[in-house]
Amino acid sequence: MTVLAEYNSSLLESAVQRLAASGIELQVTKKRVKNINFRLKPYTLMVSVPLSISPAQMAQSITSRVSWAIENHDQVLEQYQRKQSTASESSAADSPLLLWGITQPFALSHDEKIAYYHKHLTTVFPALFEKWQPIVGAQANEVRLKKMHTRWGSCNTRACRIWLSVYLPAYPIECTEYVIVHELCHLHHANHSAAFWQTVATAMPDYRQWHDMLAGKSGQLD
Ligand SMILES: [Zn+2]
Repeated sequence: MTVLAEYNSSLLESAVQRLAASGIELQVTKKRVKNINFRLKPYTLMVSVPLSISPAQMAQSITSRVSWAIENHDQVLEQYQRKQSTASESSAADSPLLLWGITQPFALSHDEKIAYYHKHLTTVFPALFEKWQPIVGAQANEVRLKKMHTRWGSCNTRACRIWLSVYLPAYPIECTEYVIVHELCHLHHANHSAAFWQTVATAMPDYRQWHDMLAGKSGQLD
């Protein structure tokens, strides 16, 4: 149970805001514990507090851990992503073959699968760029495919060069379209600012669905 609302204080509020600015959400749970326990996970700082804790005490101890959480978050993320990509590589052999989100009635070895995805992505991406470039109002000079496990796409904004992960054809084609829109929007904003996300939403109003579908997987956008 998250009990933050019960402990409203300006000290706590500023801790929540500092964490949020680094993309970390604070989750507080009341438990039968003696001491406050902190666990830093990707995008979340989990705190268990004793049932009897006073609001002031809690605000103070959380505030004292804010800098620690922010400084260590990158490392936690990296560890998590490394674990995820190892898991997806080792399970690749026995998982069903998917193309554009649909299970295929045959199996392929890891190398065959990469060639298969490479072929399908090569077939569709030129038309998808033609579709989305005028909508986003940005033009890629060059598109390359890459065996990327830790990213779905990436962009060299100076060269206007975009890389797509060869694993994208496993997911519904809208996921590939979203990655293309995302990377094209970086040609307007070389960051993940609010203005960047506004540009994405304007081009592709339902982007969140496709973003979230990829977000739980091993890839990452950049
Ligand atoms: Zn990005």
